[in-house]
Amino acid sequence: MTVNEIRAKYLAYFEKNGHTIIPSAPLVPQNDPTTLFTGSGMQPLITYLLGAPHPKGNRLVDSQKSFRAEDIEEVGDNRHTTFFEMLGNWSLGDYFKKEQLPWFFGFLTDEVGLDPKNLYVTTFIGDEKNGVPRDTESAEIWKGLFASKGIDAKVVEIGSEADGYRLGMQGGRIFYYDVKKNWWSRAGVPENMPAGEPGGPDSEVFYDFGTPHDLSFGAECHPNCDCGRFLEIGNSVFMQYIKKEDGSFALLPKQNVDFGGGLERIAAAANGDADVFAIDVFADVIGLLIHFSGKEYENKQYQRSFRIVADHMRAAVFMLVDGVRPANTERGYVLRRLIRRAAQHAQKLGVESDEGTESMLSRCASIIIEKYKQAYPELDGEETHNRITEEIWKEEKQFAHTLVGCMKEFEKVAKGGHISSEQAFVLFTTYGFPFEMTLELAHERGIDVDEDGFKRLMNEHKNLSRAGGEKKFKGGLADTSEKTTRLHTAHHLLLKALQIVLGPDVKQRGSNITQERLRIDFSYGAKMAPEQLARVEEIVNEKIQEALPVTRSTIPKAEAETLGAEHEFGAKYPDMVSVYSVGPKSANESNPRFDEAFSIEFCGGPHVQNTSELGGTFKIKKEEAVASGIRRIKAVLTD
Ligand SMILES: [Zn+2]
Ligand SMILES: [Zn+2]
Repeated sequence: MTVNEIRAKYLAYFEKNGHTIIPSAPLVPQNDPTTLFTGSGMQPLITYLLGAPHPKGNRLVDSQKSFRAEDIEEVGDNRHTTFFEMLGNWSLGDYFKKEQLPWFFGFLTDEVGLDPKNLYVTTFIGDEKNGVPRDTESAEIWKGLFASKGIDAKVVEIGSEADGYRLGMQGGRIFYYDVKKNWWSRAGVPENMPAGEPGGPDSEVFYDFGTPHDLSFGAECHPNCDCGRFLEIGNSVFMQYIKKEDGSFALLPKQNVDFGGGLERIAAAANGDADVFAIDVFADVIGLLIHFSGKEYENKQYQRSFRIVADHMRAAVFMLVDGVRPANTERGYVLRRLIRRAAQHAQKLGVESDEGTESMLSRCASIIIEKYKQAYPELDGEETHNRITEEIWKEEKQFAHTLVGCMKEFEKVAKGGHISSEQAFVLFTTYGFPFEMTLELAHERGIDVDEDGFKRLMNEHKNLSRAGGEKKFKGGLADTSEKTTRLHTAHHLLLKALQIVLGPDVKQRGSNITQERLRIDFSYGAKMAPEQLARVEEIVNEKIQEALPVTRSTIPKAEAETLGAEHEFGAKYPDMVSVYSVGPKSANESNPRFDEAFSIEFCGGPHVQNTSELGGTFKIKKEEAVASGIRRIKAVLTD
């Protein structure tokens, strides 16, 4: 059964049972630009689970696009993916266990056609210390459901995960686990919940692929064992309790169900193949790669690469359609990494793109768009298709281009026999060289890399990016309107022009920029001659005419100082700084080409993306003394 069929059946089945279908939210939360992606089913609905009326009613069902960035490194085994679809259904103070469990069981066995003999379930053992009873009701319901299929389901006790590895299956079908495995609240286990917090037991369903247990995980196998024999395919959370002031638990007046299930995992179970990459949405992409590479999927040397390309391209398609663009910060960086990592593994498979041929990654993306465009109409249409594939192709080309410069820089650094955190960071931020590649290449040559230091720098980098423009720029910007932003970029051009005309010792001593004009105070000992003023104006206007890109980079402070980036006199800067460079024409975010830049300044922005956006003509209105050795210029952009 295909992923599209299973999704459609699920939505239809719950719709038939009185649920309203809610469309998937975009991967990028519209109200929170700093968050990467949504993913958990519970969080967006919590206010309704606490009693607020939902405009769409008390019974809801959806399939939500989800993404886990922390899983990028994990992709390559038989079950980790970055993008996935989470099936969800909710009862907001409406139905409860005796409806939810039979519905999910009926969906799995009657609709998807899973053999009930391969299903195993877990329920909550109770928490005596906190006075929360064992969930015997769920166990009873499960017993009846299995009996309806002719299965005598034995109920057994496990307790903790460690107990599971000790006690094993015990011939059981229904397993009692403890608070760590079968309890849900926002604060975790009952003990950690504050007074007034709702929570409750949950009941998970596992599919048994029948593969042999791997002893390296523990002596015995059990449903929560990580050896790969069992795959969790769905979890029903029963929000039925509220914690009281005295620490005891009372029943909520209105009880809720919050269900989450893995669509791809259910598809894998329907396939009877524990390899999630064997499901149809991946199989076609992998088939294409097999065809063009001539390599076999089963070949362990290449299997990881097949999986990484398929997973990363699917995730990239969904990010691109939701408005993410490749960049060096935040989610743009996640996307860049996905595309570049896929390109790297395509290369490993021998199907890399070169300038002359069609991009293999774009072809993979086309297959994915075809697969999903009916369920996700935002993917439909030729224009969308072209935009997505072109964006991937562009990033691929840029990466190939970057790699040439990168390799040169890497060789230089590698000569030292050790790669420091700062060197790895510069390779990444300045040259766009993925850290994984630095690691891989260093490993091949037996050179060590300061990984921890790199991760620390990355975190500082992320925090800096997140802080936002206005917070970092203290240099006298009145606001961040378009006009002020244009004058800000003109201000950078002006400082450089002053240094060219008056000498490199000219330093900025103050600035103020409004929508009407810019003002700069700078160190210089004499009144400027009219020819000097004219020459400065001329240089700035030339740079506007040349239409130079304005590029932002985040680099180590020491690196910025070596580059001679202008910084404010006496200002304190963090270890990682934001710099803006103007020019050369070929500069871009992944390759800022500092050696050929016209101007580089420590600066938090904002700026225009290209000097051509300054539009008008730069004109100096006034040049005067403000203090001994300090001059002031006021200037404007005229139409
Ligand atoms: Zn096992
Ligand atoms: Zn600035």
